[in-house]
Amino acid sequence: MAGSFLELNGIVLSSSNIGEYDKRIVVLTKERGKAVMFVRGARKMNSPLVAPCQTFAYGSFRVFQGKNYNLNEADIKDYFVELRDDIDRLYRALYFCEMAEHFTVEGSPDVDILNLLYVALTALKKKQMRPELIQLAYEIRIMECFGMGMEANQCVSCGKEESVDNHVLRWFSPTLSGVLCDDCAKGQNNILPLSNSTLYAMQYILSAPLNKLFSFDLKKEVETELTRISKAFLKAQIDHKFKTLDFIM
Ligand SMILES: [Zn+2]
Repeated sequence: MAGSFLELNGIVLSSSNIGEYDKRIVVLTKERGKAVMFVRGARKMNSPLVAPCQTFAYGSFRVFQGKNYNLNEADIKDYFVELRDDIDRLYRALYFCEMAEHFTVEGSPDVDILNLLYVALTALKKKQMRPELIQLAYEIRIMECFGMGMEANQCVSCGKEESVDNHVLRWFSPTLSGVLCDDCAKGQNNILPLSNSTLYAMQYILSAPLNKLFSFDLKKEVETELTRISKAFLKAQIDHKFKTLDFIM
């Protein structure tokens, strides 16, 4: 069958066995979005393709494209091996990959999500922030990249904005995907309180450039409030259970 070679750059999101010797990997690539690659002989001990099939492997993948992508060789720049030394960081990293797999589409490039995943894995690896905060920022930001981000600049119902000396956006609605002012919060069910510090944290996470996203700290009460909001938001907006989430304390 006719086909061609091409080079795809990205991160391995997941890997599974096929038959006795082969593997199937899902790679989030810059060029083709999510790409499923078949790797012949990847479970034979002496195969040079054993290592590149590991989750988190980041680099370039040379594939033959026929009906499917078949991996021929890979040049891996980072395996993120440090993540495997710490079970808590490892499971969060797997959760980030699972989310990225859920939110991306085969054949449709999504460089924002790829870049977000890369900097989040790097932040976990380098222990730039506490893992709880890295996860919080990643969850809020990936929803934004996906086009389902929370509204944090104005009341989702009436458009009222926060002013410097008056904290008016004091509520968050997971189902309406955003903040609410006092007036609009009346009569709403299932809304969560929102302090002004939590509102600023939310705005920061939604708008910070990627190289600054994973470099903030939060007071304990702000972290608690924002974590509660993020969890409720994901639950209300995504009809999917992430299996790796069960392993995170
Ligand atoms: Zn309002």
